Amino acid sequence: MDQDPAVALRPEDAGLRLTVLGAGAPYAVPDRACSGYLVQGGRAAVWVDTGPGTLAPLQRFTALETLSAVWISHLHADHAADLLGAWYALGLCGVTRTAPLPVYAPRGCAERLAGYFAEPGTAFLDKAFRFHELADGREDDADGLRLLTRAVEHDVEAFGLRVEYGGSVLAYTGDSAPCPALEELGSGADLLLSEAGDGRTAPEGVRRHLTPEEAGALARRAGARSLLLTHLATGLAAEDAVRRASDGFGGPVNSAEEGRTYGVVADPASVPL
Ligand SMILES: [Zn+2]
Repeated sequence: MDQDPAVALRPEDAGLRLTVLGAGAPYAVPDRACSGYLVQGGRAAVWVDTGPGTLAPLQRFTALETLSAVWISHLHADHAADLLGAWYALGLCGVTRTAPLPVYAPRGCAERLAGYFAEPGTAFLDKAFRFHELADGREDDADGLRLLTRAVEHDVEAFGLRVEYGGSVLAYTGDSAPCPALEELGSGADLLLSEAGDGRTAPEGVRRHLTPEEAGALARRAGARSLLLTHLATGLAAEDAVRRASDGFGGPVNSAEEGRTYGVVADPASVPL
């Protein structure tokens, strides 16, 4: 169960799969990076959220030279900060690609990254990165992976993601309070990767995250086949999050394990590889 059978497959034969690079928040601790995932299908490899501590494990599974794209849900540091490390590799340290790395990110990402350096403007980033501004409803192709972006509810501009490949569907909430776009993203998904960053049971006031119960209810309403919880609220134990989400879902629920690859298969329900 712990061995990834995908390594025995030719890349073009390998189906949609999710590797958890980091599932922690809001800062990296030993053996727990912040939000970051590698989504692969066929020859495609997309780094979804570049949270602190995820660049290093990313390179256990793929190479920056051949990475298809980066997709960043929002610019909170716990989801985006390791893009700076990728710039050091690709822009400053001679890791070469045949074309700049496409970076799908909310507006302002290039300016924020450029702010670390003395050079004026953002044009100097072009030698390594090609920025694409995310917007609600945007659709992209990353080496054969279909990426659908939807705006979600957070305290900064934020997006969720639906990835389709070979008839399989992975949906990712990013960071979001409950909102209709999440159900659309997760509709019929084989695997719904959902944050559970709000550990309260009866939250009041401004919402920025989902409770485990809301993640479970989301999975049920969306008709998702299985639910993988991530970005758990501080102090929320994984087993408690899984139990609370399971009550409202009725399908399989797990908490994201770093370093583990999950197959996203249309039939049967998604299971860890
Ligand atoms: Zn956030």
